[in-house]
Amino acid sequence: MASNGVLDARERSATLSRLAAERFDVLVIGGGITGAGAALDAASRGLRVALVEARDLASGTSSRSSKLIHGGLRYLEQRDFKLVYEALRERDLLVSKLAPHLVKPVSFLYPLYKKVVERPYVGAGLALYDAMEGTRRPVPHHRHLTARGALRLAPALSPARLAGAMRYYDAQVDDARYTLVVARTAAAHSAVVATRVSAVSVMRGPDGVRVTGARVRDEETGRSFDVSAETVVVCAGVWTDLVHELAGVRAGYRVRMSKGVHIVVPRSAVQADTGMILRTDKSVLFFIPWGERWIVGTTDTDFTGDRAEPAATEEDVDYILAAANRVLVRPLLRADVIAVYAGLRPLAEAVGEVNGSKGAKGAKPTTKVSREHVVDVPVPGLASIAGGKFTTYRLMARDVVDAAVADFDRSVPSSVTEQLPLLGADGLVGVRAGAGRLAEDCRVSRAAVEHLIDRYGTLAGEVLDLIRADPGLAQPLADGYPYLRAEVVYAVTHENALHVDDVLMRRMRLFIESADSGTGVATEVALIMGRLLGWSRRRRAAETRRYLERVAAEQTTPAGGASAVGAGVAVPGVAVADAVLAGVAAAG
Ligand SMILES: Cc1cc2nc3c(=O)[nH]c(=O)nc-3n(C[C@H](O)[C@H](O)[C@H](O)COP(=O)(O)OP(=O)(O)OC[C@H]3O[C@@H](n4cnc5c(N)ncnc54)[C@H](O)[C@@H]3O)c2cc1C
Repeated sequence: MASNGVLDARERSATLSRLAAERFDVLVIGGGITGAGAALDAASRGLRVALVEARDLASGTSSRSSKLIHGGLRYLEQRDFKLVYEALRERDLLVSKLAPHLVKPVSFLYPLYKKVVERPYVGAGLALYDAMEGTRRPVPHHRHLTARGALRLAPALSPARLAGAMRYYDAQVDDARYTLVVARTAAAHSAVVATRVSAVSVMRGPDGVRVTGARVRDEETGRSFDVSAETVVVCAGVWTDLVHELAGVRAGYRVRMSKGVHIVVPRSAVQADTGMILRTDKSVLFFIPWGERWIVGTTDTDFTGDRAEPAATEEDVDYILAAANRVLVRPLLRADVIAVYAGLRPLAEAVGEVNGSKGAKGAKPTTKVSREHVVDVPVPGLASIAGGKFTTYRLMARDVVDAAVADFDRSVPSSVTEQLPLLGADGLVGVRAGAGRLAEDCRVSRAAVEHLIDRYGTLAGEVLDLIRADPGLAQPLADGYPYLRAEVVYAVTHENALHVDDVLMRRMRLFIESADSGTGVATEVALIMGRLLGWSRRRRAAETRRYLERVAAEQTTPAGGASAVGAGVAVPGVAVADAVLAGVAAAG
């Protein structure tokens, strides 16, 4: 059972039986960071909680962000002081106490190009940014640099107009892994977490008004059943309006979708020992260090297409390359691009404010829409939330659960998540110090143990236990990448991975890190998963094919069918996917 925070995909039918049989205090719809956070917030207050996610945990926006835990420097300029203040407080809480194994400080260089005007302006902004932090200060204070100092840190910058730079600190996270760990921590507090289960309508009480649960569909089998709950909490991100529709409610806000695209390039393509942030005409562009890669982005444009598969267009990639190349001494080329991914920001706007999401005259540009969150209770028994940022998920979760339980006829404790480290955080210092001994005991390299601690914190021991039982699992999954075969097993037995894309896109990040999007190891992953989940040969082939199709869908512009990285330049993953797909099809 899940009380130790294990989400074992092999026990899915028992999980669904519990969903159908038990009566819950809170049913959360949506397993992105907001829903996982709401499940944890409610479960840690002692409530009986269920969470249903239509696809995989974090498969929506929560695996497609810039992966920063930050105050958001640009929101200062928009005078969104409350948002920045709250986000910085949250950043420091996560880095120092709740999730030091997952949220890590990262430095950014802010190059200055206008000698006199820019430094005092940016300097004052950063001083305010630093001042808004709590007293704990787990990340260093900002610093002024000369042009020469900036070039020492980032030789990739063109010296041409460079007048100097500022260096400041924020934090970064693997967003999908973080979401998973929040959901597992909720499960450790007895929440029932089920993926590939969609809410399809809501149930009403005897008065015909109060929402008393939801009818859900198991997306693996097509079977539908009811889940009873005293209150339903909608955390459906860009799907929120659709969930309001299926519930037959009119909320006081609507969600506008803004697409953000990132490209991934090798570390060697941009010589710098720090992340970088550049001003662009519309917003900012980040260079974010990501292991042996850079994540570069993002864009911010209205979107009206398929929510499940937002694809990048050629224009998106061109825009990012052009913005980056304005400051680089060696331009980034299309050939440098390893991967492209797109995500949709769920921007909440009060109903009267939504004046043309298709870009009608007078519509606010998406860059100017506030990133603050909105909570609404459109009908008794149903609370919903949208907007906000990954960084502030804990506050969002607290606020929506407060609203959801406000009319309970008993008192419900206040949120305790400020005091609640996530699974894998407690005892981290000791585990890090003992890495050498662990490596000797398990006969694996120290680098492998450090990789596991970096990803799982103190839960790394659970992955190492799998290796002790079967030393073959210590083998790397893919050449040149640190992931071990044991991590595929662990993804199934502890992290609820049901399909190959769950593993390659979210439990590990080969989809965005590898030039072939992980397609080259899809068959191997299906083999390892299949042994645990009882897949036949035919099923393994189907699962492999399913992954290749997902890769192709994400990297192709739906409207024009053009390659995301431009005509004549193949996205490597798509090329390999097509080849392997042809092979699987030929094999029958
Ligand atoms: C390009 C980009 C960059 C960003 N960068 C940052 C950043 O650096 N830092 C930061 O703090 N924030 C960032 N954000 C914002 C942040 O990523 C989002 O605010 C956050 O991930 C939204 O999470 P969510 O849980 O609300 O939505 P989602 O993650 O989309 O989750 C909603 C879930 O609901 C599920 N669902 C929908 N309908 C149903 C149904 N009927 N039944 C069951 N489940 C359903 C979906 O499958 C989905 O998984 C960025 C966003 C984008 C797009």
